[in-house]
Amino acid sequence: MTGSMHAMVMERANAPLAYREMDRPEPGPGQVLVKVAACGVCRTDLHVVDGELTEPVLPLVPGHEVIGRVAGLGKGVRRFREGERVGVPWLGWTCGECGYCRSGRENLCEAARFTGYTLNGGYGDYLLADVRYCFPVLGDYSDAEAAPFLCAGLIGYRSLRMAGDARRIGLYGFGAAAHIVAQVARYQGREVYAFVRPGDDKAAAFARELGAVWAGNSDEGPPEPLDAAILYAPVGALVPAALRAVAPGGTVVCAGIHMSDIPSFPYEILWRERKVVSVANLTRQDGEEFLQLAPKVPVETTVETLPLERADEALARLREGRLQGAAVLTTGG
Ligand SMILES: [Zn+2]
Ligand SMILES: [Zn+2]
Repeated sequence: MTGSMHAMVMERANAPLAYREMDRPEPGPGQVLVKVAACGVCRTDLHVVDGELTEPVLPLVPGHEVIGRVAGLGKGVRRFREGERVGVPWLGWTCGECGYCRSGRENLCEAARFTGYTLNGGYGDYLLADVRYCFPVLGDYSDAEAAPFLCAGLIGYRSLRMAGDARRIGLYGFGAAAHIVAQVARYQGREVYAFVRPGDDKAAAFARELGAVWAGNSDEGPPEPLDAAILYAPVGALVPAALRAVAPGGTVVCAGIHMSDIPSFPYEILWRERKVVSVANLTRQDGEEFLQLAPKVPVETTVETLPLERADEALARLREGRLQGAAVLTTGG
């Protein structure tokens, strides 16, 4: 079976993606060939194409929020059948042998490979995936609606778990991840406080629609001290702001893969057992838990679809904060 496919390809950092024809890959042992139906556009994709994440394997097909159908099975694959709907996340491969992998922390594996960064991702008609890292995607969701689950949902869920049993929870940056996490948090009986870019009234209104008890500017304090805050905006200055917003014993979770430098701050705002933690990647267990939980909530995603060829436009709008919910690229087939 040979054939060609199209993809949006990153050839170097800080340059537009190129629409290229390439050979359709063949699945090797343990791999599936996935025909992409939809691929979400994640902030991490921006950090990759903008050169802030410095080790992409070029030329690269970005994209790690992939929904597609199994179109070919490599040797030994029994887990899925052809035509079955699968999701492909950021975590594409781990060694299975290191101390992290053997202690339930494969998200920290130093040999890990990542979809749309060190492995070709979903900004194309097809991609290869290691079958062990794919998820079945159930529920009545359309492909585009389900795509943001694969990162905004999964890593959002992991960041929410890092917040422990916090009841009052602040979300800084109300984009793709926060709009999912807000719904899960509410389902779990928590109160959501949404912090948006100063003046972004649309984002504040969107947060209130999704059940936030309060929405305001990220340079304001909340009406009451929070038990935890999760930062989705990649803005280091929000770390001290969030520390000031959480009560003693509270946690500030940094959920992104990249952030601008954190300005120095007085020890006083960390003292009294406040914590700052980061979230790195995901484990397969996060994915399984979240994908089972989402239809129960039920989480509804707000997506804007664009054809694959308009990936640069989707990235530009994400960079400028001109999106409500998540952007999702769709392929013709
Ligand atoms: Zn490992
Ligand atoms: Zn992502």
